[in-house]
Amino acid sequence: MTLTNDDDGEKPITTLKILIIGESGVGKSSLMLRFVDDTFDPEQAATIGVDFRVTSMLVDGNRVKLAIWDTAGQERFRTLTPSYYRGAQGVICVYDVTSRSSFEKLEHWFSEVDTYTTKGDAVKMVVANKIDMAGREVSREEGIKFAKRHRTLFIEASAKTKEGVQCAFEELIEKILQTPGLWEN
Ligand code: GDP
Ligand code: MG
Repeated sequence: MTLTNDDDGEKPITTLKILIIGESGVGKSSLMLRFVDDTFDPEQAATIGVDFRVTSMLVDGNRVKLAIWDTAGQERFRTLTPSYYRGAQGVICVYDVTSRSSFEKLEHWFSEVDTYTTKGDAVKMVVANKIDMAGREVSREEGIKFAKRHRTLFIEASAKTKEGVQCAFEELIEKILQTPGLWEN
């Protein structure tokens, strides 16, 4: 399967709704901006207002449109609304490897996804972010173990250095497209 971000003007075969969730400060907005614009802003201020960005990818010659939803800081109060989750085919659950508490909160975010996504069948990807930083509190093995237990995809990444970011989105989208009944319209 080949995936690229080039826009060839082809009409998309489908539009996928992708969510990015997790504790405040783990790097959700930074991961989105790295993926969509290939930028990183260390001064990235707390997101104001629900934000979503549209981009597209070529998957085996077919254009797939992505609507990527970022939270607006309301995750601080763990009050994302059901409409935020509705219709999502893919969910990226982020923690910060230098924050054990952000990792421990993943259970909470997973239960939210299962409660609110359609039929509870959205494809999930765990992203362990900020691996460029010193002071790691969560090992790679712990992350893998968590993902295995929940039968989800897992990748370590850095929005700052780009490592793993493109790969995280690609693997998620491949898996969605390989899941029958999840995206055909
Ligand atoms: P959000 O609240 O989850 O959207 O987190 P942000 O994207 O706003 O990031 C919070 C802070 O962490 C910002 O100061 C970012 O610059 C920083 N940050 C995000 N990702 C990384 C990363 O991979 N490495 C480093 N060193 N800093 C990061
Ligand atoms: Mg944000």
